[in-house]
Amino acid sequence: FANTKMQPLQSRCYPGNHDKIQSPHKTDNFIDNEFIPSSSQEWLEVHDPATNEVVTLVPKSTKAELEAAIHSAQAAFPGWRSTSILRRQQVLFKFTSLIREHIDDLAVLITTEQGKTFADAKGDVLRGLQVCETACGITTQLGGEVLEVAKDMETRSYREPLGIVVAICPFNFPAMIPLWSLPIAIATGNCFILKPSERTPGAAMMIAEFCKLAGVPPGVVNVVHGAHDTVNFLLDGPEIKAISFVGSNKAGDYIYRRASANGKRVQANLGAKNHTALLPDADKKQALVAIAGAAFGAAGQRCMALSAAVLVGKAREWVSDLVEIAAKFRMGPGFADGSDLGPLVSPQSRKRCEELIASAEAEGANIILDGRNQMPSGFPNGNWVGPTIITGVKPHMRCYQEEIFGPVLVCLEVDTLGQAIDLINSNPYGNGAVVFTRSGAVASAFQRGIEAGQVGINSPIPVPLPMFSFTGNKASVSATGGANFYGKDGLRFYTQWKTVTSLWKTGDVLSEEKQVTMSL
Ligand code: NAD
Repeated sequence: FANTKMQPLQSRCYPGNHDKIQSPHKTDNFIDNEFIPSSSQEWLEVHDPATNEVVTLVPKSTKAELEAAIHSAQAAFPGWRSTSILRRQQVLFKFTSLIREHIDDLAVLITTEQGKTFADAKGDVLRGLQVCETACGITTQLGGEVLEVAKDMETRSYREPLGIVVAICPFNFPAMIPLWSLPIAIATGNCFILKPSERTPGAAMMIAEFCKLAGVPPGVVNVVHGAHDTVNFLLDGPEIKAISFVGSNKAGDYIYRRASANGKRVQANLGAKNHTALLPDADKKQALVAIAGAAFGAAGQRCMALSAAVLVGKAREWVSDLVEIAAKFRMGPGFADGSDLGPLVSPQSRKRCEELIASAEAEGANIILDGRNQMPSGFPNGNWVGPTIITGVKPHMRCYQEEIFGPVLVCLEVDTLGQAIDLINSNPYGNGAVVFTRSGAVASAFQRGIEAGQVGINSPIPVPLPMFSFTGNKASVSATGGANFYGKDGLRFYTQWKTVTSLWKTGDVLSEEKQVTMSL
């Protein structure tokens, strides 16, 4: 195992392993622990968002390839589910340590394909790694319950794996989001098929290779690529028992409906419009720096990015200070030292972001910091939008109604805490909400009154660590009733309870005569 560090990684195709680059490089599927070149006639380009140069092509996998992945998982399931839990734990330990060892390698792929800064890319891996580490405790987490319910009769409950489960992932966290599911799914004895975002496939390939190197048997983890048709195939396959989806509302609502209609479990984390209520008693500097980081960091392409600020009372006077902080953020390619935010993922994302900024202007809001038409020198073709702050925003405006998913903060003004809570609660999304205040009573009122699933108090991006679950609310999740990712809910999602009631009449088994009989 120690030697794996020395082996060149098959999945590490670019940059830095140039002998692997074909022209153009093609991403394989990963089936039965092998990298399998796709025979597809249809390929999608993956671009470096800082340059828009093609870095790899991703196949729209053929039906035969998708069937092969499902058959491979089917064949692996009986063996994997009956593999001892201690063995599965050992495999997870190895997998986890490989990820830790290769954080930088994974981050290189993430920055190359997604555009975020190298530091952010390492954070992306780290957050996924923490889920892996927590999943290593599976031997104590997976226990059931037992109760003597009557004389000689007891009921015990077991958690059993579901079978083949699928994760369909978005572009913005290419390592973290697959790792929200993969370690828990396989630790509990399931076989896992990963469909990464067609825009950021690289990290998934490296993660798959680490599974193989860690001793995950062939077929337990497969990776297939593609877009809508690939997803539809997986949603319809009767062999697949559960779907974990993270992405936009448009795709997620559709996927939730189709998979549910096919009788599958679905967990679906969707879009967001995360608010902060900024109270005038807050620690001004701490709050403004935190808000700017959460709004513009990762170019606003985080599902928990703060994208709406509700300025309460005199806090509305702090906007110019916020502009001053935000204007210092340096936009640049992810690998450049000193870049605070990278480009948006695609020219389409940039265009949409710019259109929404323009719509705010047209609807009467003020663009007091405008990130349009900016670019770092030497990168004329990247998808650049700099930090943008819009004031005078009203709830009916498009820039408020829609998720922008870019480095844009819309600011609304109210007079009281109650008005701030009402305003935030009237927004359909409910992923995260944050209050900045020095008052415990205000924080407490906010925490109780707010309908967001993840609340921050002077803490700008309150993503729960993996001993808890990711608990979005309202339109930020599909209505699955607590089918949350990772933590205890993740364990529940990937297992089916079985309760066994047994009756072993002890009768006179202890009588002298009976014991003699038994010994004959
Ligand atoms: P997306 O919905 O475009 O894509 C996500 C996945 O769904 C991809 O694998 C894609 O191939 C597939 N897909 C997309 N449209 C489909 C369709 N019509 N039919 C079948 N499959 C389809 O999302 P994205 O742009 O990659 O990611 C950004 C979105 O994800 C944002 O809305 C963001 O808020 C959300 N997100 C949410 C969370 C969360 O935990 N709530 C976390 C990260 C990202």
